[in-house]
Amino acid sequence: MRELKCGTCGTRVLVEKYSPTHTSVQWQGDAQSSCPEFARRAALGEPSSAIPTCHALRDSIERAVYDGVLETDSPRSYPVAGRLG
Ligand SMILES: [Zn+2]
Repeated sequence: MRELKCGTCGTRVLVEKYSPTHTSVQWQGDAQSSCPEFARRAALGEPSSAIPTCHALRDSIERAVYDGVLETDSPRSYPVAGRLG
């Protein structure tokens, strides 16, 4: 897992990326008190377990992946030219 900071609210979370589509986010401490978006959604009745991450944090995660800071843990497999036959 890698520690990542939400670019908007500054909440620190642990992120693990299994694949381009599967990201696991582990909140440290009380997400409702640290992230404004989280708090707002929780106040509307959404159970915190149903809120994987706030939008700003998701953007931060995507940016980290793009920048190569956060790498997928499973090795990517690219087809290698000349070895497919
Ligand atoms: Zn946030």
